[in-house]
Amino acid sequence: MTADRVQRRIIAVGSGKGGVGKSTLSANLAVALARSGRKVGLVDADIYGPSQPRLLATEGRRPESEGKQLIPVQSPFGVPMLSMGHLVQPGQAIAWRGPMAGNALGQLIDAQWGDAELLVVDLPPGTGDLQLTMLQKYKPAGAVIVSTPQDLALMDATRAIGLFEQGQVPLLGLVENMAGYICPHCGEQSDPFGHGGAEAAARERGIAFLGRVPLDIAIRRQSDAGDPPAAGTGPLADAYTAIARAVLAALDAVG
Ligand code: ADP
Repeated sequence: MTADRVQRRIIAVGSGKGGVGKSTLSANLAVALARSGRKVGLVDADIYGPSQPRLLATEGRRPESEGKQLIPVQSPFGVPMLSMGHLVQPGQAIAWRGPMAGNALGQLIDAQWGDAELLVVDLPPGTGDLQLTMLQKYKPAGAVIVSTPQDLALMDATRAIGLFEQGQVPLLGLVENMAGYICPHCGEQSDPFGHGGAEAAARERGIAFLGRVPLDIAIRRQSDAGDPPAAGTGPLADAYTAIARAVLAALDAVG
């Protein structure tokens, strides 16, 4: 099969609002999928605040192009990737209007992804026009929703669910991020927001639960250093591996 005949499936990762850990989850999901032997690329569609170059240690790199197509940047984790952060100077504000933003996104998605069979797309936070247009134009095979326990309780996640339903994108399920707190001193886990609430709330709404990632300062530290926990060993890597497995199973179930 030639590269351009590969049936590529998009996994969209969304959230009702910013700051819930959607980009961190997208990066680690892509790394975990690659570690499980999948050919996977990562698109940072969060064009107003791209963070993937930092998360996967490709800051300052510039993608080459061939004809009109961009060639993804290779991250050290077996995940080719493209982000607006690769196309603008670090810290440069991106103040684009809708159509320009849509075109930029198209450039990232219609790039030379070669033999990648899966494309994880880190959507901008929220549920605006850009997100809906992108879902309609580049139909994802399925969507993953990232939520914190409080976010789900406050119904922010519900808006993201509505966005995917409106775009007729199958919901693969929900990941609960920042669930339980791991003490950096003793390693003990505590649950400031209670345990299992997000899972129960997801199930009540008929949404599959894909797994949870604890609130662990190691995740923030490693993310800032371009060292995704999913590429390592231990409980955090295991959590991301389990989520990747659940995402693949859900993807197979939607066809
Ligand atoms: P979003 O993409 O939803 O805006 P980010 O992925 O940028 O959110 O995460 C926001 C901040 O929270 C970052 O500093 C990130 O390192 C941190 N973070 C994300 N998930 C966790 C977690 N499970 N534990 C600790 N810090 C986290």
